[in-house]
Amino acid sequence: MNPTDIESHLSADQVRIIYSDLQNIITSGQNRVKVLEGIFTQIDGSFSDAVDAADANNQRTETLADIDREKQAIRAAQRALGRIDELGELGYCSECDVDIPFKRLKIAPTTTLCVDCKQAQEKFQRIHRHA
Ligand SMILES: [Zn+2]
Repeated sequence: MNPTDIESHLSADQVRIIYSDLQNIITSGQNRVKVLEGIFTQIDGSFSDAVDAADANNQRTETLADIDREKQAIRAAQRALGRIDELGELGYCSECDVDIPFKRLKIAPTTTLCVDCKQAQEKFQRIHRHA
């Protein structure tokens, strides 16, 4: 979608900034995944002792966790972009439709909730977890 066609309470420049931030999250995330996968395959599999083996194992686990984090961020940005393209709008809370301020979107471009709805969601999840 052309960012100038997106409906928003934000200015056209702000829309462009958030839109390209989301695209950058995806491209830079994909690059980091490639690098991390390269590191993962290079972790030495031939160990001289048990300590080395444990080290390599830890390194593998950490690298996999890093890859997973990157992929989650990529998916979140893809979802946000998909939602923008589908609705043709950006910067409105998906729960209550209130304007999400530019400042909040700049910090968290993948967010789809206003601060109030986000807090309500987190409170719900906290209660849910402890139930
Ligand atoms: Zn809301």
